[in-house]
Amino acid sequence: MITRTSCLEGWMTQDSRAMTDDKTLSRRAALRNALGVSAAALIPVSFLTGCGSKLSCDDATKLSPEDLKNRSDNQYVDTSLDLKKACGSCGLFTAGGEKQCGTCKIVKGPINPTGNCKNWAAKT
Ligand code: SF4
Repeated sequence: MITRTSCLEGWMTQDSRAMTDDKTLSRRAALRNALGVSAAALIPVSFLTGCGSKLSCDDATKLSPEDLKNRSDNQYVDTSLDLKKACGSCGLFTAGGEKQCGTCKIVKGPINPTGNCKNWAAKT
């Protein structure tokens, strides 16, 4: 039986299942099988962007009660419902490093580039 132990293997396992009915296919064979078919063309965007692992900037454990209230009052959410109005395109956002939370001039605590709050303002 093939078990999902990593994102790459999980993705390839799914793909390999579609390509074969061999129930005894080893994990290594599944990887080889999947890579043999133009791997670059098959790698999903989610894998290239961290294998579907989403950046989370919603860890409240290091925030003071005042900062939590600030986030709540400003209706901060870690994932914007409107990606055209995400923190990453807001003029008040300062980016962190790659795959890192950024900061905001108004909302306290770590800010996700995909987040949003009621104060979103387009970069000028
Ligand atoms: S003001 Fe709101 S939308 Fe803009 S960066 Fe701060 S939290 Fe994100």
